[in-house]
Amino acid sequence: MDRGKGEEGSENYVEGGYHPVNRGDLLNEERYVVQSKLGWGGFSTVWLAWDTQLNKYVALKISRSKDYFRETALREIETLKVISEADPDDKECVVKLLDYFMHSGPNGNHVCLVLELLGDNLRTLLKHYSGKGIPLNKVKEICFHILRGLDFLHGKLSIVHTDLKPENILLLSTIDPKKDPKKLGVPLIPSSNKGKSIIATSSSSGSNICKKGNQQIRSNQKGKLVAQDCGTAANEEEEKLGVEAQTRTWGNEKILSGAWEGNLAQRIRELNINSLSEKQNSMSSLDLKCKIGDMGNARWLPIDKMGPIQTHRYKCPETLLGSSFSTPADIWSVGCIAFELATGDFLFSHRAKNNQEKLVNHLGLMIELLGVMPWGVATGGKVSRDLFDNKGNVKGYRKCGRKLIDLLRDKFGYAKKNADDFRDFLVPLLHFVPEKRPTAMQALLHPWLGGGPRLLQPSSSAAQTQQNAEVIPEEKTAV
Ligand code: ADP
Ligand code: MG
Repeated sequence: MDRGKGEEGSENYVEGGYHPVNRGDLLNEERYVVQSKLGWGGFSTVWLAWDTQLNKYVALKISRSKDYFRETALREIETLKVISEADPDDKECVVKLLDYFMHSGPNGNHVCLVLELLGDNLRTLLKHYSGKGIPLNKVKEICFHILRGLDFLHGKLSIVHTDLKPENILLLSTIDPKKDPKKLGVPLIPSSNKGKSIIATSSSSGSNICKKGNQQIRSNQKGKLVAQDCGTAANEEEEKLGVEAQTRTWGNEKILSGAWEGNLAQRIRELNINSLSEKQNSMSSLDLKCKIGDMGNARWLPIDKMGPIQTHRYKCPETLLGSSFSTPADIWSVGCIAFELATGDFLFSHRAKNNQEKLVNHLGLMIELLGVMPWGVATGGKVSRDLFDNKGNVKGYRKCGRKLIDLLRDKFGYAKKNADDFRDFLVPLLHFVPEKRPTAMQALLHPWLGGGPRLLQPSSSAAQTQQNAEVIPEEKTAV
């Protein structure tokens, strides 16, 4: 059985934590049949499931059940509903919500999001290149899609993602075509669901009441989504239907059972050679279209509550220093992601024994790589005093980095032109002054991305924000 409890840690499969999922589990009145695990994050596990009503694969994001996670998931639903309404033609490179419901299990009541099925995340893509980085032409293609999604979120919807990182950006397809669910054959379907007629319901997107479990998702008077007890207390575990073993045709199970017959060593060699050349072929023809996922931490402008945002290595200076943030925080993260995709290394990579050292090293590296930090930025945050001395030096930082261009040329061996061009794209994204970073639309128009045949429809509000940003005068510098 494909129960959870993988990398996400069995200690999190406790009350308030992840829901234990098995292959063949039926959710939401037996509509969704779990097939296998797609991924996980700090807030949820995500599963490939078969939608027996619409006869298609979907991704089920099952949140941890503690209040904090449940509320985050409800906010994610609200955000995704707005996104779906604003992008009916699905052109904007952001993941789409299809449905949602509550599911009750041994660890509590879980909010479940039914998402369109996407492919591998960019962390997995990086692993396929053995951590050595992705060819620059491919990085350009990926950056184009991320920026396109951001232009829509920032420019059209005034949403800041706040957690951009490779794990949260998803290719539309699987890297290994053999793992593409559409090619895996017949999905696992319980016998009683087989032959069920296809009923396309309009409630499949945007329904505001779930039908089952101890709790329902309802809109309260203010139109906000809340999880409410509904008293039906039906335990889905007790109601699981039998599963037809013969229909299990996915994964490598079948292929492997044949492979172990005959000369084992020879067979393994052949498999390795085949998979290597197949891998190379599939990588060169890989479809690099991708979408921004994980809207769980998204914030709406104007941001009323600041609080911590972003995952450590993708944090912008304003977040590190405890200043206010807005859409440019995401742009900074795009710079970090672009560098990482190209080189296979984190842009800000360092070791630290504790949180203070982490902050010190991160800031010190930023300054070494990107140059002097404007005084206003350095001194403007809640924790600025703890990190800078009164000469503007990062307290206790021992020099260990180098300039971005030297890093690209010496460490990663880019030819001069490639290094210069890539640096020219990256440096504005990583401007210390948030308002001076380009908007997503402006970054899309950067020559490094090549323009090419991809037609863009600029969002006027994005262009406007930047015009305002450009009149801000250069500030006194800290170092
Ligand atoms: P969390 O909020 O817990 O971080 P994410 O939304 O980031 O959850 O999803 C965790 C992982 O699950 C992703 O990194 C990705 O690998 C996988 N995943 C998420 N959504 C989808 C989807 N729609 N299709 C395919 N895989 C997905
Ligand atoms: Mg995530």
